[in-house]
This record gives sequence, structure tokens and C-alpha cells, in this order.
Amino acid sequence: MRILITNDDGIASVALSALATWASRLGEVTVIAPRVEQSGKSHAIDFHRPLEIKQVPLLDGIEAWSVDSTPADCVRFGVLGLKKRYDLVLSGVNHGYNLGRDIVYSGTVGAIFEAARLDMPGIALSTDFGDPTPALSQLDAVKAYFDEHALLRHCTHWNVNIPAAAKGFRFTQQGGIFYTDEFVPQGNDMYQQVGGPVFYETMPLTWDITAVRDGFVSLTPLTSTLTDLAVLDMLKSDDQ
Ligand code: MN
Repeated sequence: MRILITNDDGIASVALSALATWASRLGEVTVIAPRVEQSGKSHAIDFHRPLEIKQVPLLDGIEAWSVDSTPADCVRFGVLGLKKRYDLVLSGVNHGYNLGRDIVYSGTVGAIFEAARLDMPGIALSTDFGDPTPALSQLDAVKAYFDEHALLRHCTHWNVNIPAAAKGFRFTQQGGIFYTDEFVPQGNDMYQQVGGPVFYETMPLTWDITAVRDGFVSLTPLTSTLTDLAVLDMLKSDDQ
């Protein structure tokens, strides 16, 4: 089994190395990660300039590359640059949850959408802003749950958020807004976006945000097509 590992926190992320070490027990791992942090870069790619891409000594026995671009470009280099295919793309473990409507900004999830575009299964993994160790120690349990329920056969792309000391697993849908941000003026025409995650008291139980708030690993099956099929079907039938 060939596994491509990337993230949006950058090649120096401790959680990236830990994920790669963990995954190396499952198969042949290639790490391809951004040179510097790319959080919030979503599914962006950078094709207007040459990219600096270097093989780096990261972990013994694991091929690793540093890419001066986004997580999506890391996945693209792994396939289009190295001319290899992978049985699974893992992205993370991200420093900070990727939940609700805010996953549209996520570079961690963006890498998975690029895996989808290139016809490879992918799983985005995130935890809170604290020590990633409790989440990393649950990777065996997450894998066992995926295997037991054949989740990658049901859906090839998943957004997984792992709270510390999770009580169990919940299948969830993408919830509402998780990060509340504002533009704070700093003078001299400068503004800083400042915000943070918010868990509301009253959120539907089906939401990813609710599952994590309640201490469960949130498992959201993702789709990467943007067509509203319900509307399309309605308009098609109106047409007839
Ligand atoms: Mn990040």
C-alpha cells in the first residue's frame, strides 16, 4: 500500500512526522508537505512561478519532500511530478479542528479535494490547538473504525476531527460557522483578521462541530462536486 502524507502546517510540524511514522506500519509512505505553513489556503495551486521542491531528510527510511507551495500542490507534485500513484492520501494531523462551513478554507481538506480530483482516496485529520499527542494516540482506533465499517468503500473522502480522549465515533454532516472572525483595524491602512472557534450551546446533533464538542471523533463523508443536483433535477423535470 502506497500512502502520501501531506498537511497545511508545514514540513516541520511534529504531528506530520508522527502521522508519517504511524502510517509507515501500514505501507510505503511518501511525505510531501509545504515548506512553510499554508493554513487557510484551501485548494489553491500556484502555477504562475517555478516551485522550489527539495527532498529532505525528515525521518529514517521515509522519502520526504518540501514544497514551496500549497497542500494541493504537494499532492499534485506527488502524482504529476514524481509520476506515482497512491492508494491513500492522508492530510494532517492539523493543528486546529477543521469543522463546519470553515472547512472551505482548510488547506488540510484542500489536499483531500486534490486527491479526489486525481482519483485517489483521502482522509483529512485534525485535532484541537493543544498538544496533538492525545489525537495521535487514537489513530489506531480511527483506523480500526474505518476498517470495521469499510468506510472508504462507502465514501472515498473523509473529514475526520479527533478530540483528545474521545468517547467514541459519530458520523456527521458539515455544520455551520465554527470560526468567528472580524477585521481589526491596526492603523496605517492595516487590518488583522482575528477570531477563534466557537462551540454554541444549541447545534444540531448531526453536526461535526457538535460531535467534537461532545467528545466524539467526527467522521464526515465529503463530496467534491459543487452541482446542486436537487435543483438540477427539479429544473429538468420542469422542462419536460
Ligand atoms: Mn493548519
